[in-house]
Amino acid sequence: MISSREVRRLGRVKSSNLGYPRIGENREWKKTLEAFWAGKREETDFFQQMEQIRLYHLKKQQEKGIDYIPVSDFTFYDHMLDMAVMLGIIPERFRNEGEADSLQTYFAMARGSKSAVACEMTKWFNTNYHYIVPELGEVTPRLTVNKPLIAYREAKEKLGIEGKPVLVGPYTFVKLSKGYTASELPDLILQLVPLYEQILQELEQEGVEWVQLDEPILVTSITKKEMETIVHIYQQLHEAAPKLKMMLQTYFDSVEHYSEVVTLPVQGIGLDFVHGLEQNLRFLTEHGFPQDKVLGVGAIDGRNVWRSHLPNKWHLLQRITRIVPEDRVWIQPSSSLLHVPVNVHEETHLDSLFEEALAFADEKLDELSCLIKGFRYGESMIADEMIKSQKILEQMALSSARNRSVVHEAVAKVENADFNRSAPFEQRREKQQQVWNLPLLPTTTIGSFPQTSEIRQARQKWRKGEWTAEQYDQFIQKEIKKWISIQEEIGLDVLVHGEFERTDMVEFFGEKLGGFAFTKNGWVQSYGSRCVKPPIIYGDVEFLQPMTVKESLYAQSLTTKPVKGMLTGPMTILNWSFVRDDLSRQEVAFQIALALRQEVEALENAGIKMIQVDEPALREGLPLKKSAWNNYLEWAVNAFRLTTSTVQDTTQIHTHMCYCEFHDFIDSISQLDADVISLETSRSHGELISTFYDHAYNKEIGLGVYDIHSPRVPSVQEMVSTIERGLEVLAPAQFWINPDCGLKTRGMEETISSLQNMVEATHFTRQRI
Ligand code: GLN
Ligand code: ZN
Repeated sequence: MISSREVRRLGRVKSSNLGYPRIGENREWKKTLEAFWAGKREETDFFQQMEQIRLYHLKKQQEKGIDYIPVSDFTFYDHMLDMAVMLGIIPERFRNEGEADSLQTYFAMARGSKSAVACEMTKWFNTNYHYIVPELGEVTPRLTVNKPLIAYREAKEKLGIEGKPVLVGPYTFVKLSKGYTASELPDLILQLVPLYEQILQELEQEGVEWVQLDEPILVTSITKKEMETIVHIYQQLHEAAPKLKMMLQTYFDSVEHYSEVVTLPVQGIGLDFVHGLEQNLRFLTEHGFPQDKVLGVGAIDGRNVWRSHLPNKWHLLQRITRIVPEDRVWIQPSSSLLHVPVNVHEETHLDSLFEEALAFADEKLDELSCLIKGFRYGESMIADEMIKSQKILEQMALSSARNRSVVHEAVAKVENADFNRSAPFEQRREKQQQVWNLPLLPTTTIGSFPQTSEIRQARQKWRKGEWTAEQYDQFIQKEIKKWISIQEEIGLDVLVHGEFERTDMVEFFGEKLGGFAFTKNGWVQSYGSRCVKPPIIYGDVEFLQPMTVKESLYAQSLTTKPVKGMLTGPMTILNWSFVRDDLSRQEVAFQIALALRQEVEALENAGIKMIQVDEPALREGLPLKKSAWNNYLEWAVNAFRLTTSTVQDTTQIHTHMCYCEFHDFIDSISQLDADVISLETSRSHGELISTFYDHAYNKEIGLGVYDIHSPRVPSVQEMVSTIERGLEVLAPAQFWINPDCGLKTRGMEETISSLQNMVEATHFTRQRI
């Protein structure tokens, strides 16, 4: 029986979704795109298949009873690119590709064409999703097409859905774009706001009730002054379309200027109550919430793969609905579900408890519906589901995988001394110089050599059981041998084994450490049609047996030159995985660090005494708020140091990071206390020089002298001048010469020619200093 109190509540709390994964249950989206690019699909078929995928996604959400279903979150590549094209921000170099709204222009901007290089791509906030960076400043914006309107009409006509169009809000859009200086920003806003007004007016005329404007920039460290600009923008938008309700959506953290944000002239504010939980809840309890607005409560984690603890969520929602009346509350995921895989149907190979602990996009929407049911028909109606979720998570907590006492004890015992090597860098350096006796400007590479289709096929054969482990090992050894002799012939000073046995630098270690699981179908979009399947760290991370010693030792046995051991660092493994959420990230990082430390020690004991621990993703983990950077950097740096601190003074620790914006970061890089670091810098030398003028760097450092992201073979002369520019700010005695990243995606011939030129450029420079 439904009590009278409960009847009163019927239908009051609403459910809403912010965005749905595009890639499809079986990556149909990716396959359709790639078939089209390969010329295997006509344009009409392409549009038709895409429509099918899009409608199927909408239908699923409709069947789950979601009240506010997002439309126009679907895209053929990226939602920022959609916004740019819609606003006519198409750089001049793409003018000859075709009409502004043609697929040719669109994909040329995303992927480049014969005559124009692609637009840049960069990370979407602190996720592993990459968006296309709009290039403002060059062309005058104009509205080319109202995509949300088209999407709204389609959902209504084909499925009877009253959709909620989604747009990237104007301030976030401008802030994530490039091609302008701070003083030009007000002008750009003036150009863009009328276009947004037009979009919104057309939606209003069409009878759209709600539109979602994503402004995740509001959770970053924006200034008061910027906040004033945002208030002004939204006043204008509201005046332009007063009858259209705007849900101003934030996510990934708590908002920065709560009081200003909640008084913006919009009808709804969406806050993240997962990743900004504590702070947003504090704002809400301390400052209240305006009576005339809807609160979008991001209660279900849109960034992770775990089932929710429903009683806790229920409790949270009860707290919130004591502050904001139920008829003004929407329950929703904390962010777009773009960042999680589609559903768990295929994951039957996993341990059943663990499988039950997972919730991907579809399961998260089910959790939403369940909570709504609780509000509509009473808590008792969802008691079973709540108990079930609690039980599963309790069992996970009790599982042996999460109770490896050796691991817990080791982490608990970590103390400051564990982060330090036994001698400071200056002393280590002297000893290392004696042992290694390397020439001035030593040459090396970053680790991987071309992964040819032959190598990938060999791995497939072994995985499918067509090849025995011995056959596969022999094949790998043959590759190592070939490349050791190539490196010797080229005349490199420090060699690598080539990483032929690894598909992916995180997966390789995850498969060999305890505590990791791999899904069959847990794909998420990384950029464009590229999808990745991140490992899931579900248990305590444990070293089981040496993971890299065999290949490194074999390589070293073939040469008298030093061969670097090659590991992926703890922060990169952490940041490129889905991580259990019952422990702090720091604790998980330290678990990984201690496991990797055993690998470092195993390599050293086996006689490998140059060891590189790659951390390309260390910077990616930086919190969105600057105020939280120091705390993160402290434990991230410590995780690296924990991995590398126990080796002898003469053992040389290398690290590698592949990004060029390290001007705000160089001190942390130095604190890693690695004897040698290699950085990607070949694309931004001007910036680099100024960085080292401002920050003295005392350890050894290799600055990438050529860009491996292109098949072009750089000339000797080019590399000589790149090296010389580096030598303006760094002493020859600390300078290493290397390409700017691993060579795994390059072809064999271009790799050899480029490295030959690199060595020649080094010889030439050595004679001149
Ligand atoms: N050692 C790795 C490689 O060479 C590093 C890759 C990376 O920096 N992303 O492929
Ligand atoms: Zn790199």
